[in-house]
Amino acid sequence: MKRNISTILIAILVAGCNPTPTPAPALEKKEPSAMQKKMAQYITVQLTADTAGLSEKEKQMLPLLIDAAKTMDEIFWMETYGDKAKLMSSISDPEIRRYAEINYGPWDRLGDNKPFVPNVGDKPKGAAFYPSDLSKEEFEKVATDQLKSLYTIVHKDPAGKLTATPYHEAFADPTKRAADKLKQAASLAEDPGLKKYLELRADALLTDKYQPSDLAWMDMKSNNVDVVIGPIETYEDELFGYKAGHEAYVLIKDKEWSGRLAKYIGMLPGLQRALPVPVEYKRETPGTNSDLNAYDAVFYAGEANSGPKTIAINLPNDEEVQLKKGTRRLQLKNVMRAKFDKIVVPINDSLITPEQRKQVTFDAFFSNVMFHEVAHGLGIKNVIKGKGTVRAALKEQAGALEEAKADVLGLFLVTQLQNKGELGNADVKDYLVSFLASIFRSVRFGGSDAHGRANRMEFNFLMQNGAFIRDDATGTYRVDFDKMQTGVNALSEKILKFQGDGDYEGVKAFMTEMIKISPSLQADLARLASANIPIDIIFDQGK
Ligand SMILES: [Zn+2]
Repeated sequence: MKRNISTILIAILVAGCNPTPTPAPALEKKEPSAMQKKMAQYITVQLTADTAGLSEKEKQMLPLLIDAAKTMDEIFWMETYGDKAKLMSSISDPEIRRYAEINYGPWDRLGDNKPFVPNVGDKPKGAAFYPSDLSKEEFEKVATDQLKSLYTIVHKDPAGKLTATPYHEAFADPTKRAADKLKQAASLAEDPGLKKYLELRADALLTDKYQPSDLAWMDMKSNNVDVVIGPIETYEDELFGYKAGHEAYVLIKDKEWSGRLAKYIGMLPGLQRALPVPVEYKRETPGTNSDLNAYDAVFYAGEANSGPKTIAINLPNDEEVQLKKGTRRLQLKNVMRAKFDKIVVPINDSLITPEQRKQVTFDAFFSNVMFHEVAHGLGIKNVIKGKGTVRAALKEQAGALEEAKADVLGLFLVTQLQNKGELGNADVKDYLVSFLASIFRSVRFGGSDAHGRANRMEFNFLMQNGAFIRDDATGTYRVDFDKMQTGVNALSEKILKFQGDGDYEGVKAFMTEMIKISPSLQADLARLASANIPIDIIFDQGK
């Protein structure tokens, strides 16, 4: 694999889950060890990010930002485990060492955090943010704002008293190195918004005061290069959810796609009026100020690089910044590409009828995902009879129905825009077959996941409307394009009416019936599992 100035390659590991028993090994083959089985869940994929559109100075910034990001790896190790060097020197098996690198510690993030290194014990709920023997009661008795802060680490002094050390003191050395790299990158920045953000972010790392840099991040709009860096999410603190873990993403904005998204968001009010429902169900005017952009990721570090990987980021978390500036949604296009190549393509080869397979394309898959996001802005947020929000009226049913709405209205949007000649020369049929292949992907997320339930319902509804036909001899599916269009319109109308009427009982009965998995679909999903088609992806990477 060649690396040059216009190409940065990162390798990702793909997590494969194979719930079906593996066939008995041939006699001459040795049974794989438990660790080999764990490692076999991952395959390495290489992603490329095109830097051809960047200026020379922007290209020079990337290695500085990657160096800054790498210090987040060092800090996150200390937050989640403690002394990485000591752990690594205690492990002689190279496969176990590799697995510890992937997991940022000796506990298996894909296996309920069970230890895979002998004699390490269970993972403390508070990771290494707190003393490992700390109980909730003990902490709550003495908890001060400093002890509960997002940005402090808690220790016990020799007298047994709890003390809080700010991150910038506890991790002074890597923090200072990260800040230095950000300042060097800022000195190269040509975009004034980016320059200001990088300078403020460097200061924030040195003081643990993040709000000025979060505000500057929301203000910057014309940058090509971006970095999300610092202590951000609190998932790693399972004891209280107080402590933020360090992480970083280094990103390159896809200006072409971001520009198209901005244009489509601007067209939403007109598209809202075209929705296939009576006028009272589309009286609201969709907002056109969403900040939705597409990026290629070139580096993940720290918490972002541990466990299952995200393909979309929604930040900042600071509610005061959200009220003043809103939030920004970042779609990571090359990571979606990896999911397409490693998950959607093999599903296509297994479950779509051979003559329609060529219509499953990355552009159509990506467009469907993007228009799903845009379509969340369509429809109505408040019920039309009585008062209140759709979310409040539909309670626990609201999430899955809203995801299904975004799926079908996303398809509605794609076909409307295509008919208006806004999507270039792509074939509408590509979106429809790619949508079906992606339904199989999402159905596998399971019934406890809102997207999983939404996709099961969509599959059953469209199937009953003749939009897909299963060939029982081969277990493959064919899209009937005309019936798919009428089915999508019928489902759009059904969902928008449920939402507008705030019909909780109706939605509950409908969903309960429609998320059932038929024996034939069960058999098809079992075929995907036995073919070792992965469900999720995670990253491994080097410069
Ligand atoms: Zn969604």
